[in-house]
Amino acid sequence: QAKESGRGRAVEYSRALDGERDRLSTLEGQLRAAISSEAIRPVFQPVVSASSGHICGVEALARWQTPAGFVSPEVFIPLAERAGLIDALGMHILEQAVMTARAWTGLDLSVNVSPMQLCNPSFPSQVTDLLQREDFDPKRLTLEITESVLMSNPETSRRAMETLRKIGVKFALDDFGCGYASIGALRQFGFERMKIDRSLVWASDDEGQGSGVLEATIALAVALKIPVTAEGVETSRQAQLLRSAGCQQLQGFLVGKPMSATELEMVMKDPEVA
Ligand code: C2E
Ligand code: MG
Ligand code: MG
Ligand code: MG
Repeated sequence: QAKESGRGRAVEYSRALDGERDRLSTLEGQLRAAISSEAIRPVFQPVVSASSGHICGVEALARWQTPAGFVSPEVFIPLAERAGLIDALGMHILEQAVMTARAWTGLDLSVNVSPMQLCNPSFPSQVTDLLQREDFDPKRLTLEITESVLMSNPETSRRAMETLRKIGVKFALDDFGCGYASIGALRQFGFERMKIDRSLVWASDDEGQGSGVLEATIALAVALKIPVTAEGVETSRQAQLLRSAGCQQLQGFLVGKPMSATELEMVMKDPEVA
């Protein structure tokens, strides 16, 4: 009797696993198709100068529109990495972002790069070819990477960064303060910019050491002479604290949410609507 129901549960469990596997492989198939269509495209979040409030650049953020609704990059980026689709997805986003942002004279463009992309030996030449083909000034492009890649694959990453720097591409250390927050990584890899993780910005609202930690992180960047962008800025109190601590650029819902190219162009014409 007990054995019977145990076997029943095992069958049920294995069916559930099959179901999960089917669901994932369907999603993978849809992802593959979406990469070569308009279903995956970047939206753009404005980045402003902390002192003037003027828009100085945009960060491209990937969005996947499916018939069932919107899938978050927190879900489909890891899925693309597992399915071996990240190189294609990454280049698709970079291409769309470059083609769109080309017309926005004077604005810098930041694009996120997955650690796996940076470790692909043909990544630097693919980026170089794309910028040339699209006639996009490499000096306007910043690639955002997280620390994890530098820890796991330091030599390949360093080579890729050196090659792309030669043509003028810059690098930002993304999400600083939520991982190792390594001073070594900041110095050894010569990052042109530090992006402070939103969790650090939000922690400054708490009673206690939150604002001290945020100020100390900015002081570290100032000491290393690395310009800072704060992410996830939602309140004018946070903006004020960041400004007086010496942070040069702000990004977050206070300034503007990620938006379509059309919406961004409206904001640029009339900054009041942001
Ligand atoms: P990230 O690069 O750190 O991007 C910042 C994330 O914070 C974005 O989430 C953005 O929408 C969100 N955000 C910005 N300001 C605020 C704010 O004031 N409040 C709140 N609550 N959130 C804010 P998103 O677009 O969901 O992207 C999540 C992560 O997915 C990104 O983090 C990035 O690591 C990754 N990602 C997005 N697009 C790409 C891509 O094209 N390629 C790769 N490899 N990764 C991407
Ligand atoms: Mg980023
Ligand atoms: Mg970030
Ligand atoms: Mg992030």
